[in-house]
Amino acid sequence: MALVPTMGALHRGHLTLMNEARRRVGPEGLVVVSIFVNPTQFGPTEDFARYPRELDADVARCATAGVDRVFAPAADAMYPSGDQTRVRVPTIAAPLCGVSRPVHFEGVATVVTKLFALTGPCVALFGRKDYQQFRLLARLARDLFLPVDVVGVPTVREDDGLALSSRNRYLAADERVLAASIPTALRAARAAYARGERDVGTLEDLVRGRLPVVPEYASLRGADDLVDVGAQLLPNSPAVLAVALRIGATRLIDNTVLGEPDPGLDPS
Ligand code: AMP
Repeated sequence: MALVPTMGALHRGHLTLMNEARRRVGPEGLVVVSIFVNPTQFGPTEDFARYPRELDADVARCATAGVDRVFAPAADAMYPSGDQTRVRVPTIAAPLCGVSRPVHFEGVATVVTKLFALTGPCVALFGRKDYQQFRLLARLARDLFLPVDVVGVPTVREDDGLALSSRNRYLAADERVLAASIPTALRAARAAYARGERDVGTLEDLVRGRLPVVPEYASLRGADDLVDVGAQLLPNSPAVLAVALRIGATRLIDNTVLGEPDPGLDPS
């Protein structure tokens, strides 16, 4: 059985995860999509209350995509009275988004552990758009000997390169134009890396300089466990270049792994 955990408001990115799930389990296997806006991964000032919820439309989208089951529990089913256990993956959760979202990854790790326990998948599909989440969950499954293969699926993008996100709908038209500079900046860094640039500060500054606002972060970390890469990238050590920025009130993230192909960003 393959599990695709989501928070709903499903778009083409989610559909790609569902298709990859089907490819992995075959026509006879079961594909399950969970839809749960998980309260414990939102900070007190974040968008939990206004996060888009459209369960009926999402169930129809899942049916069209050939999904076998939708699991959409209520919050008090996932966190019944007396619930107190939390799962932490401290080192991977600390940098990047962990700086501004201190409770986020504990919420993610906890809810995904619960979803794994409830549904028992052999494989679980996550988007590389949320790269830190993907690496943290891969580490979680490995550390806890969970019998599930955690798979990262390449980021699905709009024609101009903007990564699809349920939060893109918050962007006003002028903000949407500015958001296109995110993939442009990542492409510029990939081009510099391809020309041999290995200086971490230079690559990070190159991205910062192409963004319309000062980003929350634009950082290179080791591609596996997001370790500090030092001042120079080493041969045969892929590194993720990750960015987060606010455009108006909307917080957007994106990334690319330098040292690996990235079909969504590389010239075809
Ligand atoms: P969310 O509903 O935003 O929590 O996302 C559910 C899953 O879909 C996560 O594993 C995300 O990383 C993944 N996802 C979201 N956007 C994209 C995208 N543009 N491309 C690929 N996967 C995505």
